[in-house]
Amino acid sequence: MAEEMTPKVNMETIVSLCKRRGFVFQSSELYGGQASCWDYGPLGVELKRNIRDAWWRSVVQERDDMVGIDASILMHPQVWEASGHLQGFTDPLTECKGCHRRWRADEAKDGRCPSCGGELTEPRMFNLLFKTFMGPVEDSASTVYLRPETAQGIFVNFENVLATSRKKLPFGIAQIGKSFRNEITPGNFIFRSREFEQMEIEYFVKPGTDEQWFRYWLEERFNWYVNLGIKRQNLRLREHMHHELAHYAKCCYDIEYLFPMGWSELEGIANRGDYDLSRHSQFSGRSLTYFDEESGQHITPYVIEPSAGVDRSLLAFLLDAYDEEPDKEGIRVVLRFHPTLAPVKVAVLPLSRNPRLQPLAREVYNRLRRCWLVQYDDAQSIGRRYRRQDEIGTPLAVTIDFQSLEDNQVTIRDRDTMKQIRVPLGVLEETLERKLAGEPLEVLPPGGSYWLGWGE
Ligand code: ATP
Repeated sequence: MAEEMTPKVNMETIVSLCKRRGFVFQSSELYGGQASCWDYGPLGVELKRNIRDAWWRSVVQERDDMVGIDASILMHPQVWEASGHLQGFTDPLTECKGCHRRWRADEAKDGRCPSCGGELTEPRMFNLLFKTFMGPVEDSASTVYLRPETAQGIFVNFENVLATSRKKLPFGIAQIGKSFRNEITPGNFIFRSREFEQMEIEYFVKPGTDEQWFRYWLEERFNWYVNLGIKRQNLRLREHMHHELAHYAKCCYDIEYLFPMGWSELEGIANRGDYDLSRHSQFSGRSLTYFDEESGQHITPYVIEPSAGVDRSLLAFLLDAYDEEPDKEGIRVVLRFHPTLAPVKVAVLPLSRNPRLQPLAREVYNRLRRCWLVQYDDAQSIGRRYRRQDEIGTPLAVTIDFQSLEDNQVTIRDRDTMKQIRVPLGVLEETLERKLAGEPLEVLPPGGSYWLGWGE
């Protein structure tokens, strides 16, 4: 049963792979590191972009009922009053009387310090908003907040978007961007940090149809992860108990992933009712309603909010893709990323550094990089280079050998099966394209190729 499963890889292995291969680094490491902040390296930034692009494509590009925006991080302070964050965006904070470490009260399970077992102080409510000042004067009139969610940027633009996009209910607005929370206990690598990125949808519907749309988005969002390769058994839906519900939510489910520390939230999907638009109407004095032609009435739409984290998704995609298998040299580490997410799509590998191979190998490299992010590697043995590409999840490698100079054919090697085929240069892009789209490597392109069998 899913409940009893244990994740196949631990966090240390992933953290170390991320550092070694350039996915994620500790922020400001040069100065001893800035706790709970992370920097994405050359491969991490590609993976992140691919996740964002896949999300945008699925929730905006391929739909008629969605549009996107990009709102600013600093907003009018009244936004946070209206949204309830100034008052209610708090976590219970408690401190150990012995070691003085601070905890979120719900983490101290038996009421004792999780670190030293010491006695804890009475919890007090701690507001997670980051404060700063706008302009040269540091006083209360110039206080602004770093947004703790991207959602409010959508609500305050509801009228603008409605007027300019001429959408009819139901329709949604999507946004990707940074959010900031002064978390009491950040941790578990990029799972919980103080600066992170969200991918949020506010989907506006007619009251009365909200439950049906809530179920729709639950399924839609769950399948997004599955379609991008996350194993179904590592995902589950969990309904929030009444006491867990945020102040605005009518109903909320989490999509959870089986992280190394156990089942934890990957994305939250909430039915927010008309809370946000009503509150912003009340605080701004502007009526944020929709004219329903059918009934001839102005209505306040209900909102379904699927709210995902870019960093948490990235961690889940990494963990789920990680695989190890024995090979001749010990252990082959493979990141079995879905091709859509893989940071590097194709590696171009001349069989050796022999100068005779270089011109053709460079020509192939220059051709392919017009289509995809491609890496050229001619250092060390071909076996070592295949392993290096496996470890960063590159789905395909193209090898140029001496025979290629004679017959204008190259070898394509598949990361997952390690199978190889030889294809004429004339159909190389087309074959790679089909393979990246999920066709088995054995499928012959027009113009022919022949099966080489298992490599290595
Ligand atoms: P948690 O219960 O884990 O603190 P939450 O319920 O407060 O999360 P939401 O407010 O629902 O989180 O935020 C939506 C999504 O944003 C989360 O599912 C997660 O993917 C991401 N997210 C929230 N807080 C953080 C954080 N501190 N670090 C990284 N991602 C986060």
